[in-house]
Amino acid sequence: LIEIRGVRKSFGDLEVLRGIDLTLPPGSVTAILGPSGSGKSTLLRSINHLEPVTQGLISVDGEIIGYRRDGDLLHELHEKEVLRQRTAIGMVFQSFNLFAHMTAVQNVAEAPRRALGVPKAAAEARARELLALVGLEDKLDVYPRQLSGGQQQRVAIARALALEPKVLLFDEPTSALDPELVEEVLAVIRDLARAGTTLVIVTHEISFARDVADTVVFMDRGVIVEQGPPSQVIDHPSHERTRTFLQRVR
Ligand code: ATP
Ligand code: MG
Repeated sequence: LIEIRGVRKSFGDLEVLRGIDLTLPPGSVTAILGPSGSGKSTLLRSINHLEPVTQGLISVDGEIIGYRRDGDLLHELHEKEVLRQRTAIGMVFQSFNLFAHMTAVQNVAEAPRRALGVPKAAAEARARELLALVGLEDKLDVYPRQLSGGQQQRVAIARALALEPKVLLFDEPTSALDPELVEEVLAVIRDLARAGTTLVIVTHEISFARDVADTVVFMDRGVIVEQGPPSQVIDHPSHERTRTFLQRVR
């Protein structure tokens, strides 16, 4: 269970998140929609402490991200402990950031070897299973430059899954892809959703969000304007700002 409570984040004078409250139950699929600059990426990056928040708390299964509770006091965790917490939170970015000098299997096996000390043979065996899961069983030993964008993104998804995270965060996973490659990546995310993986997906693919998410969150200017099932937020939005946004992206 992931809880986001009263989260605020400023960059200098600019307040980018202005009080975010969100609960992500286990197995839930949450789609975050909103205009450019509304704070969607900052929120995702806050969840795994890539951006420390200015105010508020984020916890995963009761463990506060980045801090240790001591009575009423919060102590900042050491980098090493933050890295351990971060293994519970997988992230997939718009640009896939694969290691160019490593094969698909090596890319997927790297984090479990480094972060969890899993032996090479075991990590690579698991990597082959995960690559098969994302439909790349025939691309195990090729390098990123030999893969299409959609295939690279699927390697990135397998890599995020390799640490067996409690939640997987996607930040516009298809927006760097040619249109004909979008569907293969969305299909993989859809399969993960069906398998009960807890997912948060920032996306501009409205029909995908309607199809896959149980909760849709519409953000604008650092606040959640409305949230609810797709049938409500996408099909019958109750706020003018949501309606205007949906009309523009459709
Ligand atoms: P997009 O749809 O374009 O990806 P977004 O909703 O993901 O937008 P964010 O990337 O979260 O928006 O950015 C929100 C605001 O915070 C923007 O005004 C951005 O310029 C600002 N911002 C983000 N990161 C930083 C940073 N490291 N330093 C200063 N300002 C930042
Ligand atoms: Mg963004």
